[in-house]
Amino acid sequence: MLLDLHSHSTFSDGTYTPEELILKAKEKKLELYSITDHDNINAQKEAIFYAEKHKVNYITGLEISCKFKNMFDILGYRIDLDNNALNKTLEKVQTFRKNRNKLMIERLNSLGFNITLEEVAEEAKGDVIGRPHFARVLLKKGYVKDRDEAFDKYLGDGKIGHIPKEKIDPKEAVKLIKDAGGFPVIAHPKSLKLSYTELKKVILELKKHGLWGIEVYYLNHTVSEIKMFREIAVETGLYITAGSDFHGSNKPDIDLGIKVEDELLEKSINILLT
Ligand code: AMP
Ligand code: FE
Ligand code: ZN
Repeated sequence: MLLDLHSHSTFSDGTYTPEELILKAKEKKLELYSITDHDNINAQKEAIFYAEKHKVNYITGLEISCKFKNMFDILGYRIDLDNNALNKTLEKVQTFRKNRNKLMIERLNSLGFNITLEEVAEEAKGDVIGRPHFARVLLKKGYVKDRDEAFDKYLGDGKIGHIPKEKIDPKEAVKLIKDAGGFPVIAHPKSLKLSYTELKKVILELKKHGLWGIEVYYLNHTVSEIKMFREIAVETGLYITAGSDFHGSNKPDIDLGIKVEDELLEKSINILLT
């Protein structure tokens, strides 16, 4: 089947609007689609509207950045968009981000770069400003020759121009999604950089709080990683999902949609749809 349960719109760090994404999902004939912006659900009502209009099989989504030694993102599907606790926490997370962005501008200025928050906001178009937008301004102003150089030298984790955001605990993210009626899923498990045993332990702990699935199929997982994550899913009783992490021209190598033939995925999709 061809589907995509992981993509970003202009409301986070993608370059396509929700309507453009829905049209692309339609053009690609995706069997199931979700927009999963970072730490916000601002695209969702628009996405639902256009999905109905263009007859795309759509479920709501988001991707919450969590506190961990490596990158740890939790996806949530079919959340109640009006859930109070979820909306309150997302507001808090956006405040963390806004404060962090101001500090990053100050840091970059002190390093001698002539860059303002307004210029970065201009690149963001939507409402959530992130490091990819900082990278675009550095590139436009000729401070770096490409996006990779911007991250490798200044904006990547631990680099001189990067200030980390305060994040929420993975347990809290899982619980928040679950309590909003949603399905919590570990995004791109590769990024946790854990061994088989360590990952299994993390999953079993989060399962107590309502973890439902794991994103086994992800564009930059290798065949052997897919095999390992699938095995862990089977062993821990998790459902599996698939996503591309499409960001439009902010990640130009990734196209929308991921093709997977797997009975376990079909079973998971059926649960997600009931
Ligand atoms: P932010 O949420 O503002 O901290 O930005 C996170 C986003 O920046 C990620 O989703 C990636 O798109 C991008 N990013 C972070 N680190 C790198 C890197 N080393 N190389 C390329 N892109 C990166
Ligand atoms: Fe992610
Ligand atoms: Zn993502």
